[in-house]
Amino acid sequence: MRLFHHDCPACAAGETCVPVSRRVMLGAAFGLLSAPALAQSGGGARSIGIRRAQTGEAFRGVYWRDGRYDREALRRLDEVLRDPHLDEPTPMDPRVFDILVQVQRRLGSDETWNVISAYRAPESNAARARESRRVSRVSLHMSGMALDCRLPDRDAMGIARVAAEMQTGGVGLYRRDGFVHLDCGPARRWS
Ligand SMILES: [Zn+2]
Repeated sequence: MRLFHHDCPACAAGETCVPVSRRVMLGAAFGLLSAPALAQSGGGARSIGIRRAQTGEAFRGVYWRDGRYDREALRRLDEVLRDPHLDEPTPMDPRVFDILVQVQRRLGSDETWNVISAYRAPESNAARARESRRVSRVSLHMSGMALDCRLPDRDAMGIARVAAEMQTGGVGLYRRDGFVHLDCGPARRWS
């Protein structure tokens, strides 16, 4: 099934990716920093609705409040976004949730995100890489920094356009499959 075998060109281009080892360094250096645009919005709370296409499992609620991420909410999000093939979660980079929230606010949508691909364990990614030359051995999905997703009330092109304008990070448009890849790596775009 194509949805499970796609890969992102930017992920496939090793030089544009943030390797896993660098993610660890960045994480150690910056901790759980939020996306700049949201950080400037001050206090309050950030909530998100996510449903996993493969399992139907969902999370809806506040994951950030009073200047900090809610550890229990992040843990539940990690569970929903685990690798469905190996049943293996990873600590997702919460900045990718901030990106979804920013984009959704700009779009004026309150719908639940439908997530097609999130964390991919190295074994899952390696299996795909053996099947297809387009699949990189290093992908931001392996670092818990990328989500392939769609909003039921907005078209993929509109989501990708807004995310690209906001320079949130990596933005890939998969028009035929009707979803976008969003990640909290360097700002870049492809379609
Ligand atoms: Zn992707």
